[in-house]
Amino acid sequence: MKVPFQDFHQPYAELKEELDAAYLRFMESGWFVLGGETAAFEEEYAAFCGAAHAVGVANGLEALHLALLALGVKPGDEVIVPSNTYIATWLAVTQAGAKPVPVEPDPGTFNIDPEKIETAISRRTKAILAVNLYGQPCDYDQIRKMADDHGLHFAIDNAQAQGARYKGRSVGGLADIECHSFYPSKNLGAYGEAGAVTTNDPDLAEKIKVLRNYGSRVRYHNEVVGFNSRIDELQAAFLRVKLRHLDEWNSRRARVAGTYLEGLADNESLILPRVPDWADPVWHLFVIRHPRRDALQQHLTERGVATLIHYPIPPHRSGAYSVESGNHSWPDLPIAESLAEEILSLPIGPHLREEQLSVVCDAVREFVN
Ligand SMILES: *Cc1c(COP(=O)(O)O)cnc(C)c1O
Repeated sequence: MKVPFQDFHQPYAELKEELDAAYLRFMESGWFVLGGETAAFEEEYAAFCGAAHAVGVANGLEALHLALLALGVKPGDEVIVPSNTYIATWLAVTQAGAKPVPVEPDPGTFNIDPEKIETAISRRTKAILAVNLYGQPCDYDQIRKMADDHGLHFAIDNAQAQGARYKGRSVGGLADIECHSFYPSKNLGAYGEAGAVTTNDPDLAEKIKVLRNYGSRVRYHNEVVGFNSRIDELQAAFLRVKLRHLDEWNSRRARVAGTYLEGLADNESLILPRVPDWADPVWHLFVIRHPRRDALQQHLTERGVATLIHYPIPPHRSGAYSVESGNHSWPDLPIAESLAEEILSLPIGPHLREEQLSVVCDAVREFVN
């Protein structure tokens, strides 16, 4: 039996009627950009997050980029980011003209270690941009305290954790501004590109609306240098359908994760993700660690189990941010570097079948025992 890393056919099969109806409604509406579907999705997604406002944008990177601009991040500023994230988090800081300042994660939860933030703060620091990595919320209260103590903005990259909860409260409405990606592989995935920014601050929401639409509030009155970063109306229509099923699909992911956590109990070499008692993760990815990761991956491939590595090269080691380019210098980041060598993402998703899950568990156990 083959176990794919992620299945894109079954989600459509399950929601076909609703998605097809959304498509027809869109085609017949004759309105293709920033229309009723966008407005309705923004309202529904804000309510889902417990945030006062949601603004749809083109993709997750644009959500981050515009959020930083709305916060007033500019050239010369520094923004604190995790050392182990998808490179988009760093690129958004660079696009705003600022410098990403990496802080190492807690290797158990993979999320930024709040204790390590303080020493990274300088006179130039403007904001902390934390990530809810792999679907698990970061420690909002600790980071909020650090931000407040130093007069910094607190932003979140929530590309991977739609529907997660921190101390019982939905992510999306907890930091000053939170940024979401609806790339097809995410927990709330579109059928193309889409993203959103959520916030409780009406001024920030208004700034994002202006920035995403050529810097204009009124057509042909361009107040600021803006962008074309609008969400696609058809994607908004599809996302409204999928949002209605997100909690149920996240709970199916949680059941898969529960089986992994039970079936693959920690042993000397295999390390499972740690979930703090205040976190309700949505398991975008299920990431394990093993000192012989490449051999484990090879073994799983031979058993028909597809795996991926998120991510094999930490941003500071990538060509974009290389020290060799002469443009960058980085502190030692041993945790990000050793994680990149040890992490492996197992298949997880709302449509992973019981038999497939057993195949994965058996294959991992066969290797580690
Ligand atoms: C997917 C992702 C992004 C970027 O989202 P896009 O919609 O692909 O632009 C940003 N940050 C993280 C952590 C992501 O996983």
